[in-house]
Amino acid sequence: MVQNGSITAFKNLFADNLPGLLVLCNLAGSQSRNCHLGHQIVDNDIEEFDRLIRSWASVDGVAMRVKGQEWLAISKSDICSLSETLSQYRKQQEIEVGWRSIGRKDGLTKINESSIKVTITRAARCLYTVAKVDDDQRLIDELFNNCYGFPPDKPIELSAILNSERLTWRSVSRYPSESPYSCLFCLGDKFDWYDGDSSVYSGTGICKKCGAEIDITAIP
Ligand SMILES: [Zn+2]
Repeated sequence: MVQNGSITAFKNLFADNLPGLLVLCNLAGSQSRNCHLGHQIVDNDIEEFDRLIRSWASVDGVAMRVKGQEWLAISKSDICSLSETLSQYRKQQEIEVGWRSIGRKDGLTKINESSIKVTITRAARCLYTVAKVDDDQRLIDELFNNCYGFPPDKPIELSAILNSERLTWRSVSRYPSESPYSCLFCLGDKFDWYDGDSSVYSGTGICKKCGAEIDITAIP
């Protein structure tokens, strides 16, 4: 696995803190939060979770942010207080999501848009295992290899997800049922895209069927 300096630093502290609950956490749905709420909000999320997990591990242990949105921790604290930490982090809010499409052809402009009120959830994923006195650093690698595809908000024991089906979790409850990716003039759905970013609704291109220009942006 790819190793960075922080993971190495944590591994060096690992043996001194055994036995304990070894925990790997990451923030779920950050990409969506970044898209809809902005990077400043995600920066605040990171700060807040960092404070919470450090506080949890401060009872005879240590927590470290080892990647952008990932933390390793080992502590003598119990699983109930770890659950409480995840609950404290969880937050839901209502936002508007949707799209606006502007089509231009032969001097004519057409506009279509669709947006709905939805719930966006902030949550952290947490995988843990009980590390014994004689466990070594390979246990940390095992957590990294398995920390994906299970719901956030609840600490999951490593052995419980090995060989179990992985699930997709979404922070945004739903999106408008209507898609913006059709031409406002001829209803064609194939375009030569020449601009846009990785947002849910983004793209500027030319309709392959009638040559209209289409420009799709997110609402708000
Ligand atoms: Zn067209």
